[in-house]
Amino acid sequence: MATLQNPKFEFIGDDVALDFVNTVDNRDDPERRKELLNSYFDLLAWALGAGIVSEQEAQELQRHAIKSAMQARAALRRAKVLREALYRIFSAIAEQRQPATGDVALLDSFDKQAMAHRRIGRGGGGYQWHWRAEGNELDLILWNVAKAGAELLTSDSVYNVRACAAERCRWLFLDTSRNHARRWCDMRVCGNREKARRFQRRGAVRG
Ligand SMILES: [Zn+2]
Repeated sequence: MATLQNPKFEFIGDDVALDFVNTVDNRDDPERRKELLNSYFDLLAWALGAGIVSEQEAQELQRHAIKSAMQARAALRRAKVLREALYRIFSAIAEQRQPATGDVALLDSFDKQAMAHRRIGRGGGGYQWHWRAEGNELDLILWNVAKAGAELLTSDSVYNVRACAAERCRWLFLDTSRNHARRWCDMRVCGNREKARRFQRRGAVRG
C-alpha cells in the first residue's frame, strides 16, 4: 500500500491522543500553521503509523473511502472536531488550567459513540476489544483516538502532559522522563531551533 506510506507524521507524544493533536504544525502561528491531515487518506496514513489500525484494516478503509468520498470527508471533519477538543483540553492541563466543560463533554460524547461500537471478542490468544462498525467504519480511527483521549484524561498520567516549550510549536507530549524535565516535543527539531534562536539573540546583543 504505497499510497499510505507517509513520512510527514511524527509520533513523539507517547500517547495516541497527543500524537493525534500533533497533526498540526505551528498551531499558534497563523502564518506558519500547517495542517497535516488534508484528506481521509492522510488520516489513514497517520492511523497506520500510530499503530491503531492494521495493514488489512487500512486497506479496507482505503477502499471504503475511495467508494464513499463524501462520507470520508465527513469522517475527517468529525476527527478534526475531536482533535481540536483534545488540543484545548490537554493544552489547558499542560498549563495547569481547568479544561472547558464543553470540551470535556465533547470528548465524552465521542467516547460514548466509541463505546457503543465496542465488543469483546477472541484475539491475540485471549480476549480483546473489537470495533463493531455497522456501516460507519470510517469513524474507526476516531473511536480509537476518543478512547485513548478519555483514558488519558482519567488517568494519573494526565499530570505529565506537557506542551513543547518552543514558541510556536505547541505540540503535546507525555513527559515520562525520570526527572520530569522534558521540555521539547523533539530535541532535534524544537530544542535545536530554540538553541539557535538564543544564540542569534546573544549575537545580536553583542553586535
Ligand atoms: Zn516542538
